[in-house]
Amino acid sequence: MNAISIANKVKSGEIKATDIINDYLDRIKEKDKKINAFLEVFADSALKKAEEIDLKVAQKKPVGTLAGVPVAIKDNMLYKNHRMTCASKILENYISPYSATAVEKLLEEDAVIIGRTNMDEFAMGSSTENSAFKNTKNPLNEKHVPGGSSGGSAAAVAATMALISLGSDTGGSIRQPAAFCGVYGLKPTYGSVSRYGLAAFASSLDQIGCFTNNPEDMKLAFSVISGHDKKDSTSSILQQTEKKFDIKAIKIGIPKEPFMEGLEPKIKEEFLLTIQKLKNLGASMLDISLPNTQYALPTYYIIASGEASSNLGRYDGTRYGLNSKKADSLINFYKLSRGEGFGPEVKRRIMLGTYSLSAGYYDDYYIKAQKIRTLIKNDFKKAFTEIDIILTPTTPTTAFKFGDKLKNPISMYLSDIFTIPASLAGVCAVSAPCKNKTEAGLSVGMQFTSNHFNETSLFSILGLLSD
Ligand code: GLN
Repeated sequence: MNAISIANKVKSGEIKATDIINDYLDRIKEKDKKINAFLEVFADSALKKAEEIDLKVAQKKPVGTLAGVPVAIKDNMLYKNHRMTCASKILENYISPYSATAVEKLLEEDAVIIGRTNMDEFAMGSSTENSAFKNTKNPLNEKHVPGGSSGGSAAAVAATMALISLGSDTGGSIRQPAAFCGVYGLKPTYGSVSRYGLAAFASSLDQIGCFTNNPEDMKLAFSVISGHDKKDSTSSILQQTEKKFDIKAIKIGIPKEPFMEGLEPKIKEEFLLTIQKLKNLGASMLDISLPNTQYALPTYYIIASGEASSNLGRYDGTRYGLNSKKADSLINFYKLSRGEGFGPEVKRRIMLGTYSLSAGYYDDYYIKAQKIRTLIKNDFKKAFTEIDIILTPTTPTTAFKFGDKLKNPISMYLSDIFTIPASLAGVCAVSAPCKNKTEAGLSVGMQFTSNHFNETSLFSILGLLSD
């Protein structure tokens, strides 16, 4: 059953929210011993919420559009009175004083928050191996990583331990794990979902989005979590562009850049199959060029690391989380608290970011990267005057094995080559799973990118392809 039908059955009283939640809690107990998608299961508060929903139904009071739907959240979003760690030792004992707007909106629609999911520490990574606590396995093949940084959220939906999950995507952290785990993953337009209550990594890129098992649930989840929020100064007042969708009038662009070469053979095969399917549906396919996206990866790593080094300055041991007991002076207190609290990838980003923001290097690195970001944005702007949607694979390879890329951070960074350009441009993009799997049982994801506030056309095209 999908989220929509569960919510309808709960609303009509045909099934009880408590039964659904107990079912999911049992399934988590059974499956998550192996998968490790969750850092914590909120059994008590989930059951309490489910009882409230059942009571409302019994009293014929109105209930929300997600009534009784079990939703998992990435461990970098606040949920009042619940722990949030960003999978980091530095926040190991942090309890949320309030809820993120996206979480609040889910609760208002009577979703049930079932637990918080594993991730790369502070959302930095592509395999969830940078979590300070545990490794999450890919439910399709447990020898392989689930992708990252929202690997736990992707795995939770893929293993049906939640119907919907929230993730955050800064450079691909929803789309890449969605592709690896064989589920749908949406990175909305920057500014369409409030970042209030999301622990900041790179503020100009971070965006909350969702994982689901089908396009209809994605549309519903997005409609619930999106919308203007006064509490987030980068939240947009612009609304969705609701255009009538006719596949025969849709023009799909295929970038002709060199990075489209070098795909894993199975990904190339599925990519060509998707093009064929779209043609059969009546869409027109056009060659396009996004010339500056060849610089997207280094541009992203300068901007994201710079913003991260500034955002993570707040974890100094005096305000949040871990504070070192070994320090004998103030400066040592800062050094030891951060040294003990952060893992190696986070430290690497802080060092890179601090360097590129420092006097003397700022113009050469950060400012230069910002200029290239504008050129990349303009590439997309120009492309969207000619076409409606851009199609690429989500990733150049399928899910890799544990440890394969851990020793070489650059090769890990390369797994986001297709997802980062849309993040820099702030446009919306979604990863959809292809039907055919590899011999190892792994999934291939296709990425559909559209212009700002044009998510609805993405949902429409996914709907047609999944039929
Ligand atoms: N893998 C990319 C990184 O490590 C993207 C992370 C993300 O989107 N949060 O920065």
